[in-house]
Amino acid sequence: PELWSNDFNDFICKCLIKDFELRPNVFELLQHVFIKQIVGREKTLQKQLMELIDLNQQMGVIEKTRHERIHTKKGSYMKSQSQTCDDVEDLATLEVLDENTITEQLQRRYATEQIYTYVGDILIAVNPFQKTELYTPEHSKIYVGAKRTSNPPHIYAVADIAYQSMVSHNTDQCIVISGESGAGKTESAHLLVQQLTVLGKANNQTLQEKILLVNSLVEAFGNACTVINDNSSRFGKYLEMKFTCGGTVVGAQISDYLLEKSRVIHRAVGERNFHIFYYIYAGLAERKKLGHYKLSDSKTPKYLHNENVKLVPDIVGNAFYKEQFETVEQCFKVIGFTLELGSVYSTLAGILNAGDVEFTSVASEHQTDKSNISNMAVLESAASLLCIRADELQEALTSHCVVTRGETIVRSNTVEKAIEVRDAMSKALYGRLFSWIVNRINSLLKLDNKGLNIGILDIFGFENFKRNSFEQLCINIANEQIQFYFNQHIFAWEQDEYLNEDVDARVIEYEDNRPLLDLFLQKPMGMLALLDEESRFPQATDQTLVEKFEDNLKSKNFWRPKRVDLGFGIHHYAGKVIYNASGFLAKNRDALPADIVLLLRSSENELIRKLVTHPLTKTGLLFTLYKYLTPLVGLPFQHAEFFVFAKAESTGDATHHPRETTNMKTQTVASYFRYSLMDLLSKMVAGQPHFVRCIKPNNDRQAHKFDREKVLIQLRYTGILETAKIRRQGYSHRILFNNFIERYSILAFRANEEPPMNPETCAVILEKVKLENWVLGKTKVFLKYYHAEQLNLMVRQTT
Ligand code: ADP
Ligand code: MG
Repeated sequence: PELWSNDFNDFICKCLIKDFELRPNVFELLQHVFIKQIVGREKTLQKQLMELIDLNQQMGVIEKTRHERIHTKKGSYMKSQSQTCDDVEDLATLEVLDENTITEQLQRRYATEQIYTYVGDILIAVNPFQKTELYTPEHSKIYVGAKRTSNPPHIYAVADIAYQSMVSHNTDQCIVISGESGAGKTESAHLLVQQLTVLGKANNQTLQEKILLVNSLVEAFGNACTVINDNSSRFGKYLEMKFTCGGTVVGAQISDYLLEKSRVIHRAVGERNFHIFYYIYAGLAERKKLGHYKLSDSKTPKYLHNENVKLVPDIVGNAFYKEQFETVEQCFKVIGFTLELGSVYSTLAGILNAGDVEFTSVASEHQTDKSNISNMAVLESAASLLCIRADELQEALTSHCVVTRGETIVRSNTVEKAIEVRDAMSKALYGRLFSWIVNRINSLLKLDNKGLNIGILDIFGFENFKRNSFEQLCINIANEQIQFYFNQHIFAWEQDEYLNEDVDARVIEYEDNRPLLDLFLQKPMGMLALLDEESRFPQATDQTLVEKFEDNLKSKNFWRPKRVDLGFGIHHYAGKVIYNASGFLAKNRDALPADIVLLLRSSENELIRKLVTHPLTKTGLLFTLYKYLTPLVGLPFQHAEFFVFAKAESTGDATHHPRETTNMKTQTVASYFRYSLMDLLSKMVAGQPHFVRCIKPNNDRQAHKFDREKVLIQLRYTGILETAKIRRQGYSHRILFNNFIERYSILAFRANEEPPMNPETCAVILEKVKLENWVLGKTKVFLKYYHAEQLNLMVRQTT
């Protein structure tokens, strides 16, 4: 019986059944254990096995030779004994901690479909690239309120930890998911939402359904097929699940960031437009409604052009798209959009038609060449779908007004300029439609209760393509910030606290990416400030922009590669990237000609009018980045700016954060402003943030393929190795004595007792519950990452 106390894998190694080929049921069970990594293995399976063994009375337990292998019915190789015994669910517990050991562990686990592994309190998820049996309702059940070590690592466990700490500490939580494109972030976010709705026991079924549907809907509009991922998110998403203080889920809110609008008008080779365009095309064709929306059943719209895609049968005849169309429509209806559906389809069809409007150049005597519309019928279709007048649309595309000395002059547009205006209109319409949908969803799922929330951040990973443009720069800066946030949490603050509290713990070296944040965010000489400044000069060009970068950016992480026109290089924390500045200014300005705005405001379609009369969000890059950060701290943008400055002036408050009085004072206000956002982030997301690191095991999207080199690179740049070290040696939970006693005195004292608020009381509690390896600092209790969970569990059991 003492065998049962060991880990189940261990147990299986040690007791193999002698005639095991003859015992199909036992055999099945074992196979199940190894292949499916079955749930509840410690309890249910051990019990079942025990029963079987008891039943047969003759099952001997034999020592297996160390390298004997277990073969299954199908003859597939499962695990050698040595592997099973060495298998580690938490890398922070490894004796030998180096890159190779970690990679090997991940590979070994991956081979047996154990895609999840902990590094202390961080979850590593290696994309299986195939359906697994890890998400059954049984799984969902066993990860509710369970001790972390009693089940294999799982994304559901992360949901549970976040949920439990939200409920028990009465604080908001935040789960940050990171990883490169195709690593599994969006899937992970889905799984978290799914499990959180289970945990939050939505007492009304429809709400639960709605929350899950929101994802499908937003993804139809925000995701697209890229060369890397068939369902690549082309926007960043911060989804907040709202709960009552008691922990019942009551709603959800989404914030979207940096939608890659340019995809509407242009895609790289082999890539597609946003899913929704294909869905409506196929769906409307099925309903014989293409004509109604002025979509051709024979000619592919330009915006859907792609070498490998034919309108019929690839789009119109595509059963998957049709199905998706039905799903999307269903989502719309369940969430509460009904009246606007037709308008949404018209807008999308209007965009597709606009993309097909063509221009020819007409020589002009007075000025540069003018442009004429060469396919008026298409222009008329676009205009009628957008419910605007065709002649006015024509005018807005082919000319523009200039006001000089109070006089308005109409100037003709060249063909290039006309195309630019046309595409700007399409992009703007799509971008605003997307935001409108997100806002509508939010208002339909909103409740004004002041409860708690768990935020889930799913944002594009680091990108490095053959050609990298403005979009990649934005994405990579955002990742740079997330990495900084991660580093601060895992390393910097923890180590600072050791010093301040006189706690003896080893200092871990880590790669600080702060110089890169300086390079981007410093004012007035950071890259973004320079970009914004240059964007304000009408005469500026992308060439003058790069020259401005070269003259002003003094950093070893920035360089101008020779022989690359408009090129510049950045050495990011995750590697070197060469960017091409072509189009940077236009993309940063993101201007929509006033004529187009006025025209769309005259639309007879209420939705279109709404899209353009909405207070225009100024889309400068800086704004977007701040906007991206502020929801994490739960403040609207305007307030965040105010708040940070207000805070900068009162840095005397040393008890909250010792860093403020030391390093921070030597910085300029501007750079402090930027770091403060990070600082705020981490502090206002009270309680611990939770990190999920997604790893892509190969570039071919293949199951069972583990490219060690590829994994190693990802481990390196995400600092997993250092994380494992600091998690093992460090104290990730630091709680003020008072708070600790308030929370945990119940474990050692009666409810009517009032123990003194001093370190001795803390020690009494910790000794009473038999925890080891904790340390008392000057003001705080220092706990290992696994302690907090053990304590919370004990409290739950007591109450
Ligand atoms: P990312 O959001 O990081 O770009 P996705 O979450 O879209 O990546 O994942 C890419 C693809 O990988 C998915 O479409 C799916 O096929 C596969 N995948 C990711 N995570 C899982 C998982 N946990 N189980 C099964 N397949 C997965
Ligand atoms: Mg994604």
